[in-house]
Amino acid sequence: MESYDVVIIGAGHNGLVCAAYLLKAGYSVLLLEKRSVPGGAATTEESLPDEAPGFYFNLCAIDHEFIHLGPVVEELELTKYGLEYLYCDPVVFCPHPDGKYFLAHRSVEKTCAEIARYSERDAQKYREFMDFWHRLTQAITPVFNAPPKSIVDIAGNYGWHNIQDLFSILGGSNQTLDLIRTMLSSAKDTLEEWFDSEFVKAPLARLASELGAAPSQKIMSIGAMMMALRHDPGMARPRGGTGALTQALVNLVTSKGGTILCDQSVERILIDNKGRAVGVRVAGGQEYRAEKGVISNIDARRVFLELIEPATAEAIAPELRERLKRRIVNSNEGIFKIDCALSEAPRFEGYDHKEEYLIGSVLIADSMNQLEAAHNLPVMGQIPDSDPSLYVVVPTVLDPSMAPDGKHTLWIEFFAPYQIEGAEGTGLFGTGWTDELKNKVADRLMDKLADYAPNVKNAVIARRVESPAELSDRLGVYKGNHYHIDMTLEQMVVFRPLPEIANYQTPIDGLFLTGAGTHPGGSISGLPGRNCARVFLNVQEPLAQNLKEAGNWLKSRLESVPKLSQ
Ligand SMILES: Cc1cc2nc3c(=O)[nH]c(=O)nc-3n(C[C@H](O)[C@H](O)[C@H](O)COP(=O)(O)OP(=O)(O)OC[C@H]3O[C@@H](n4cnc5c(N)ncnc54)[C@H](O)[C@@H]3O)c2cc1C
Repeated sequence: MESYDVVIIGAGHNGLVCAAYLLKAGYSVLLLEKRSVPGGAATTEESLPDEAPGFYFNLCAIDHEFIHLGPVVEELELTKYGLEYLYCDPVVFCPHPDGKYFLAHRSVEKTCAEIARYSERDAQKYREFMDFWHRLTQAITPVFNAPPKSIVDIAGNYGWHNIQDLFSILGGSNQTLDLIRTMLSSAKDTLEEWFDSEFVKAPLARLASELGAAPSQKIMSIGAMMMALRHDPGMARPRGGTGALTQALVNLVTSKGGTILCDQSVERILIDNKGRAVGVRVAGGQEYRAEKGVISNIDARRVFLELIEPATAEAIAPELRERLKRRIVNSNEGIFKIDCALSEAPRFEGYDHKEEYLIGSVLIADSMNQLEAAHNLPVMGQIPDSDPSLYVVVPTVLDPSMAPDGKHTLWIEFFAPYQIEGAEGTGLFGTGWTDELKNKVADRLMDKLADYAPNVKNAVIARRVESPAELSDRLGVYKGNHYHIDMTLEQMVVFRPLPEIANYQTPIDGLFLTGAGTHPGGSISGLPGRNCARVFLNVQEPLAQNLKEAGNWLKSRLESVPKLSQ
């Protein structure tokens, strides 16, 4: 049996990040990936090779903000391994049905000037709103960059500017209570409080609900942060597509002696008679031994319900399987994805079209009510395609290398149910999704986009449509959950995925969790991978790791001293 220090299940970007840190610490690592390519939801593929050769598509993630809140790119020196980030500016364009449009630049001031063309008041409010969310983000970022239960590690991440921002948003007791009130409210409540204009509220609500909750869902006002991140640290895409991040990680992992095997679906985690995870078995029967530990890039529910012998899991953690099965929330919201090869870029004729509109994300977000339907209908098993809200990107405007000269690609994301109500037991995996239905829905989405960019339908050379059921199968996620588990607040930080397994460790000795199903959750950040590696190293070599963390803490204190006198 082949033997490594660590076997990682899944080569998503978090599995790769985790592997990179462990290889740098001197451990031998094997990554086993079920697909034929690594990257999981972070790939760029030539997926229409016959109809549209030379067009490269980001099949999932496209816009990267969260990774710039953490140190992964710098610490792993990913630019040396081929990664180059291209920053978007403008970051968002959203045409409104009444002829106005929201155009957000990376600069808050420039964005305010755009808003002021229609509303001086909302422009001034936007400036204050972004300042508030910027300070809040700075105040909580140190929590993202550490295991959620590691107080010393979290404290060590607080530099002087984070502390300043924390105190500025907390203020006196009434200000603190008011902050808590904001956190308990919804994105809709918050946006209604601050702004008058629908053309400002709707795109901000669309981005807030990217966390997977309707704008009116209480305790999800934190979603308002999603626009603030596009101003600072900014929104960027790897040159060559999201897959270029994966490729840089693969280059790093293999250059450090790591092994990545694709087409290897892990079917069983091997547990010895002392209750320790000692390896895995893949489809076909091959086994791989893990001397120091098994790390899962897939979430706890799949690990405990599918990869561990039920009797073993029950014996070691009697209630865990039941809690994972019943307590983890899964809203039924999935992603319906369209990728097109285009002969020309879309033109927003009625909006004084400029090519810069297509650099960032284009949002079709007409009203708060449309967005309520966009998220609430999928929860009820219904497809919100009578008046669809869309997240659209034309990646080739920022990065022409992704298509043949002069040609473009189109990326469309639409929220849709995984399980269609009333269609149980039919279609793919009994979800109700069929080829006929998905193409009908895709046609409606293209019609909606054409209401704003009339040339788009004639520009399509070829298209690839993926229903939530197909996307779920490709990624291997549970019931279409693209964030592995929902990103609502009661499942975040120390609650992700459940309090008893929230620090990347499990009741099974030697079995660790990483990936989107762990803190700080889904998105391209690499932070679950980095945090998990720190916990793993802490278990293996507690003294060395604690000394290293204490050293980092001291360094960050010393670095903040000059800032005190500024
Ligand atoms: C359509 C879509 C659009 C998105 N857009 C954005 C965006 O613009 N910006 C952003 O920040 N985030 C976005 N996200 C979210 C982001 O892509 C994910 O949260 C992130 O990539 C998750 O990374 P991960 O490594 O934790 O997990 P994954 O990428 O899910 O990796 C898990 C890996 O495990 C493999 N695997 C599963 N089961 C097994 C098994 N049994 N054996 C072996 N391997 C297995 C999978 O194939 C996969 O490679 C998007 C997601 C989707 C689906």
